[in-house]
Amino acid sequence: MKITFLGTGTSHGVPVIGCACATCRSKNKKNKRNRASVYIFTEGRGILIDMTAEFRLRSLEYGIEKIDAVLFTHAHADHTAGVDDIRRYNELQGKPIPFYGTKDTLAELKKRFGYIFSKTQEGGGKPKIKLNRVIPEKPFVAAGLKIIPIPVLHGTLPILGYRIKNFAYITDVSAIPKKTFEVLRKLEVLVIDALRHNPHPTHFSLTEALAAAKKIGAKKTYFTHISHAFEHTSINETLDHNVKLAFDGQVIKIK
Ligand SMILES: [Zn+2]
Ligand SMILES: [Zn+2]
Ligand SMILES: [Zn+2]
Repeated sequence: MKITFLGTGTSHGVPVIGCACATCRSKNKKNKRNRASVYIFTEGRGILIDMTAEFRLRSLEYGIEKIDAVLFTHAHADHTAGVDDIRRYNELQGKPIPFYGTKDTLAELKKRFGYIFSKTQEGGGKPKIKLNRVIPEKPFVAAGLKIIPIPVLHGTLPILGYRIKNFAYITDVSAIPKKTFEVLRKLEVLVIDALRHNPHPTHFSLTEALAAAKKIGAKKTYFTHISHAFEHTSINETLDHNVKLAFDGQVIKIK
């Protein structure tokens, strides 16, 4: 299984528009963060988690030729703004692409992208999507692979992380319900939200993310959805070898 980080940034991205802080001015490419998303390739299938505003650019950069399923963690703009670019995969693959999300996420997608789901002229083509409802507690099959939804809280909003084999992805989390830890056992790689040092109402701080990582005990943990508060190299120097900030373009391979 090959996992590519298409983006590791918070909703503003890094650099932040109009910000002159050291991270935003940094020349280190690892401090350039697009909106959070990963592409997973395994057994000849491609799975995208969230579809961001920069999806097209990241797809071209990393050569994403195939999408068999898109898993949505939730419907916030930074995780869904790139949906229109699924059209190219409709052309390449000659069929609708299945999208997965909770009932609330799918309802929100229908609102945000009303034109896709209403009768309007086609023009340059509209995304062809098949919506599939995910029940938070219930494993399902997408792209021929068993996917385990991971219920977490993003402030007061219940959202999902996803587990595929021994890889789990949890972004935009501020609390993990006790029961959820049961589906996070024996992970090779965990990717989890770590926004900044200061507490935030809807995201883990680094201290909270480290505590969750320790409790979950994956062999390797990577942090994502990172703000400009974190300069890549200096923060990573303070972290243990098995817990690191991820960076855009990073590739992880799991056997
Ligand atoms: Zn977000
Ligand atoms: Zn900044
Ligand atoms: Zn969010």
